[in-house]
Amino acid sequence: MTESELLFTHALGCKRESLYLDKGRRLTLSQGSFISSALKRRLSGEPLQYILGSTEFMGLEFKVNTHVLIPRFETEILVDAAIKYARSLMPFNRRVLEIGTGSGCIAISLAKFLPGLKITATDISIEALRVALDNARLNGVLNRVSFAASDLFDSLAADLFRYSICITNPPYVRSGEIDGLQPEVRHEPRESLDGGMDGLSFYRRIIKGSSDYLINEGILIMEIGFNQREGVEGILRDSNSFKVIEIIKDFNNIDRVIVARRG
Ligand code: GLN
Repeated sequence: MTESELLFTHALGCKRESLYLDKGRRLTLSQGSFISSALKRRLSGEPLQYILGSTEFMGLEFKVNTHVLIPRFETEILVDAAIKYARSLMPFNRRVLEIGTGSGCIAISLAKFLPGLKITATDISIEALRVALDNARLNGVLNRVSFAASDLFDSLAADLFRYSICITNPPYVRSGEIDGLQPEVRHEPRESLDGGMDGLSFYRRIIKGSSDYLINEGILIMEIGFNQREGVEGILRDSNSFKVIEIIKDFNNIDRVIVARRG
């Protein structure tokens, strides 16, 4: 749907088709004022998803607010890859760890599409975890995703569980580039975008930390930004713990997902 279709279907509580079929419809006063205030906010650069308070990802509904990054279409590629690897590892180990869950869209989609999985999802932000918890409830997977407030792995007990998969879409924008991004992005939490000077600082920490949490032959799946493939491959190589097994491109032919195996 276009943004205007999203706005009007949301305001009128109707399906896309009926916007065009029911042409004589009059807006109620409250619908009219909702739409005009939403348009003002949108014109000032606020993303529509924050204005409406929700978005779609993997065909599921997710609540969003300014405490969480808005789920991106490209991140569905990351989830699809994780589904493929999780299926092959499920006979051995059903545990998946997500680092930096934000709205919870990755962990919750995985739980929804693979009912056998047990997922642990962390975030440093309590406000983000509240959103993620709401989304798990909304999508009926509250009993299979456990959320933990943690700065990456810091508050997870290393010896308690090993996971078959560690998945993450970490902040990966170079600090110096954030202010130059489109105005919509500047409404999103800086801490979910800012990957440090070279954009790679979270990959360093996650690659180092995750090998203590993965089973032998466990899989690390990470979303990466434009031109980051070589940098991230270098960090994986230097760790001596991982071997890159797959690179997946997005619809713009940009390397978007990197998959590595521990061991
Ligand atoms: N893909 C996001 C962007 O385009 C960045 C998300 C991230 O840093 N993980 O801005």
